[in-house]
Amino acid sequence: MLSHITPLLERNRVFAENGTWRNTPRLPFLPFKGLYLITCIDPRTDPADFLGLQFSEAIVARTVGGRVTDAVIQDLAYIGYLVETLAPEGPYFEVAVIHHTNCGSRLLEEPELRHGFAERSGYDEAMLARLPASVPGESVKADIEKIFSAPQVSSRITVSGHVYHTETGRLETVIEPRLVIEPKIRAQAPERV
Ligand SMILES: [Zn+2]
Repeated sequence: MLSHITPLLERNRVFAENGTWRNTPRLPFLPFKGLYLITCIDPRTDPADFLGLQFSEAIVARTVGGRVTDAVIQDLAYIGYLVETLAPEGPYFEVAVIHHTNCGSRLLEEPELRHGFAERSGYDEAMLARLPASVPGESVKADIEKIFSAPQVSSRITVSGHVYHTETGRLETVIEPRLVIEPKIRAQAPERV
């Protein structure tokens, strides 16, 4: 069987020879630009393209819709823990959640397709109904709240929200960066009388 990756191995040879890979971040391998990006798996929404990322500048997690799943929370918790224990002086990183317009996750809005996938996979249909990034500005906010309310995530990282527009190639910031600790402080503050 022909491998789809074989034609790209020549590009890998060029990469190996130019030595870019030698410029490695120090332990615990925090990215040079201090960014942890979460975007959709859609091939149009690769941040290496729309943000011009270079080698080791960002951690990139990609899920359907760019949605913050429990597995994403687990990874964020792990990286935050690594910084807290191995490099407590920082620098800490910013998690940028990026959803986009015209997202393929919206195909799950169609009841028949969603029901068929639930039947085929055994995944909960109500959960699948919540997956589509139907209004990306709103789903980004919901996912950022999910990060803020996750007790596993380090309170020293910052979180921001963005929408990538597939019609223009533009990235729009919809939520400015906030420290995770800020909503937690508000939640713990005694009620004013
Ligand atoms: Zn998408």
